Amino acid sequence: MIPVNEPLLQGNEKKYLAECIDTGWISSEGPFVRGFEEQFSDFIGVKHGISVCNGTAALETALYAIGVGEGDEVILPSFTIISCVTACLRLGAKPVLVDIVPDTWTMDVSQVEAKITPKTKAVMPVHMYGHPVEMDPLFQLQENYGFKIIEDAAQVQGAEYYSVHRGGKWLKCGAMGDIAATSFYANKIITTGEGGMVVTENDDYAQRARSYQNLCFRPEERFFHTELGYNFRMSNIQAAVGLAQCEQIEAFISIKRKLGEQYAKELASVKGIRFMPIQPWAKSVYWMYCVELDPALGIEASTIQAYLREKGIGTRPFFKGMHAQPVFWEKGLFEGEAYPQTDLAYKYGFYLPSGLTLTADQVSEVTACLQEALKAALPV
Ligand SMILES: *Cc1c(COP(=O)(O)O)cnc(C)c1O
Repeated sequence: MIPVNEPLLQGNEKKYLAECIDTGWISSEGPFVRGFEEQFSDFIGVKHGISVCNGTAALETALYAIGVGEGDEVILPSFTIISCVTACLRLGAKPVLVDIVPDTWTMDVSQVEAKITPKTKAVMPVHMYGHPVEMDPLFQLQENYGFKIIEDAAQVQGAEYYSVHRGGKWLKCGAMGDIAATSFYANKIITTGEGGMVVTENDDYAQRARSYQNLCFRPEERFFHTELGYNFRMSNIQAAVGLAQCEQIEAFISIKRKLGEQYAKELASVKGIRFMPIQPWAKSVYWMYCVELDPALGIEASTIQAYLREKGIGTRPFFKGMHAQPVFWEKGLFEGEAYPQTDLAYKYGFYLPSGLTLTADQVSEVTACLQEALKAALPV
């Protein structure tokens, strides 16, 4: 079996976990929490990191921090995880969708302006599968309209974007918006099992985020509340793993890039599929190795995935668009809206084994098997 993902836990994880047990520091008050926050925010290159219990909570906390609330609108891509929409809804904000560009499966920023209203409080670019969203057009719109940018950087820890608008330099994902949220779920670049972080340069947003993830206790009088928060804290046990993982992040990214390049090379000449095209303005971290079948083949992703599963190769489907979720229609959202590129990606895209433990031989086995699968599915 070649699993779709497997974390690599061979650094100081065990040592730091033993420290938690030996010292009795297991809650969010323990020292690894601040250590991990500092190390990760340094890596992103921003001043503040506020750890939380998962990436979904990080999105909600970040939206709260920048002041998103009742009646506000947030523009985001339909092609994403449900967390982005639930984060808006829990704060009373209305999610407003745009489609994706087919080449990178990231937010189509050219569709954003048409969706801006006086209620638009924030735009949420979701960097996808290791590859950044094209940010310059959003920076320009932000200048014109004054909304906030919240990056969903769950899938791109370490990825970079070349911004002409910001003076012709490479910027790190997570450091480009007013605030960003990331996830440390077991399949992300670095993991704490479950976990997340909000990162920002802004002192006020950082303070609001820290308050929100800790029940909005007030520093001057702990059990007196003027705002509603939640317990989204990360434990010292999770942070122990996170700190050890963070120490290895550059090594992890080079493993991902190497495997990604091998996939790209071995699949380059295969007809009827396309593979993660890296834009000239992007440094991808190849979070997941995605393929999309040419619709002209008349084969859906699920057919190929089933074949690979039979051969012991794990894959995952692409996201089904937020506009295609009955749970939102019931709330009067998105019904009748059309995002055709999102629908195409869902139907024809999937990702291949992408874990850090993958060997070069396994990549070759996967690419050979994928070619067999295509042959088997095509009419002769
Ligand atoms: C994983 C992920 C999240 C949510 O993270 P969890 O830790 O699973 O809650 C949010 N956004 C994107 C794009 C993700 O890939």
